[in-house]
Amino acid sequence: MRLYNTLSRSEEPFSPGPDNTVRMYTCGLTVYARGHIGNFRTFVCVDVLRRTFKYLLGYRVKQVVNFTDVDDRTIAGALKAGMDLRSYTDQYIAAFRDDARSLGLEPAEETPRATDEANLRAMASMIAALDKNGHTYRSDGSIYYRISTLPAYGRLARLDHEGMKDGARVDSDSYAKEDARDFVLWKGHRDGEPSWEFPQLGVTPGRPGWHIECSAMALRLLGESPIDIHAGGVDLIFPHHENEIAQSEGATGKPFSRFWIHVEYLIVDEQKMSKSLGNTYTISDVVAKGFRPSAVRLLLLSAHYRKQLNFTWDSLAAMEESLRRLTDFLARLGAVTRAGMHAEVSARVDEARKQFVDAMQDDLNTAAALGAIFELVRYLNSAIDSGQLGTGDVPGIRDTFAQFDRVLGVLSLRQAEDDRPPVPVDEIERLIEERHAARRRRDFAAADGIRSGLAARGVLLEDSAGATRWKRK
Ligand code: AMP
Ligand code: ZN
Repeated sequence: MRLYNTLSRSEEPFSPGPDNTVRMYTCGLTVYARGHIGNFRTFVCVDVLRRTFKYLLGYRVKQVVNFTDVDDRTIAGALKAGMDLRSYTDQYIAAFRDDARSLGLEPAEETPRATDEANLRAMASMIAALDKNGHTYRSDGSIYYRISTLPAYGRLARLDHEGMKDGARVDSDSYAKEDARDFVLWKGHRDGEPSWEFPQLGVTPGRPGWHIECSAMALRLLGESPIDIHAGGVDLIFPHHENEIAQSEGATGKPFSRFWIHVEYLIVDEQKMSKSLGNTYTISDVVAKGFRPSAVRLLLLSAHYRKQLNFTWDSLAAMEESLRRLTDFLARLGAVTRAGMHAEVSARVDEARKQFVDAMQDDLNTAAALGAIFELVRYLNSAIDSGQLGTGDVPGIRDTFAQFDRVLGVLSLRQAEDDRPPVPVDEIERLIEERHAARRRRDFAAADGIRSGLAARGVLLEDSAGATRWKRK
């Protein structure tokens, strides 16, 4: 497989580490709000990378996706909501897990929170190692990284050190730094903020800086550097990932990650989808508009991950249409009765399978992979039309689509959505009970209201022999 490595600005052949295992870290959500579909573009693309390793290439994967549950935004949000930080961030972590499930993301092996005790301890140890290696200084109760001690600083982001000195805004912190390029490792305590104390740091209680969180969690959970892959959105290249490299390499003296993978933005009207611009949509917004998460997943995979993708409701509607084309085709396949097997059909299926595998191995070109699938569907539909596809062809075609979908995860997601009743079962059962109660007190208007309300939501009630059963419309 070839993957574009931001570190070298070129595509490189990728192979896993020892034991055929890929150790991969993905910068996760800052849990001060529900994640939007821009965030999920990154997570869906990385999920497909993970599935490609596992199901196409037969590698093992150990993936860490963190939750940033302490930083300026989470602290400000918790203060405003009058909640303690843990309970405030809990709700967005729960929402992330729901959304991740509805988008068909495979659970990562590890999903650490920065404020877990073991992680905070790892951060303190990493800072102590940076102290020992002469990379830090203290000022006003905070600890900083002195960038001038690391000549390689700026390699990932291709920074010009002199240029950076000339007033480039490197960090929005208002903490006292010696040099604009330096960044905070540990922030001294301020009123109203949570804090933790680690005697080895030699400062009063404080809290971690954002960058140290990822460096410490990555190395604690994935083991020795270098890890195989570090991933995130392109907005993280600088300063976040540059600083992660400075910390990890400054502490261990070894390269941090072999590959750096960055997913381009999901944009809206030429602007990045982002909370601060107020142009975000969450999965629940999309569902409220009548679209399904499987269509969002397909949309997020419709462009190559290194190209910007413009979000519109029309493009989402087009994805619903594309998905229908796929599911209609699979349904037609089930209705084929004509006997026979056709060499041309299997040749076309093999060719599409090869195109799919090549596209995925070519820097995860999901757009080309989907192109090969839809091209195959077009051909197979016309083969069915002209009687050139028989029952003997069907198992091979089904296998091929199952293989495509293990990697892309769209059809199985749609199937799960179709299998799930449009109204939760316990709600249906409660409404059936309420309807019985309404009938017993001869309030037929209320009883009919419940029946038609459910019908409008896609659930039909059938009364027979004194019992009521429900079915999907
Ligand atoms: P955050 O919660 O801001 O730390 O972001 C979580 C992840 O989503 C990071 O990997 C970001 O780079 C990524 N991300 C944020 N906005 C977008 C966007 N509009 N398109 C793609 N990825 C994004
Ligand atoms: Zn990170």
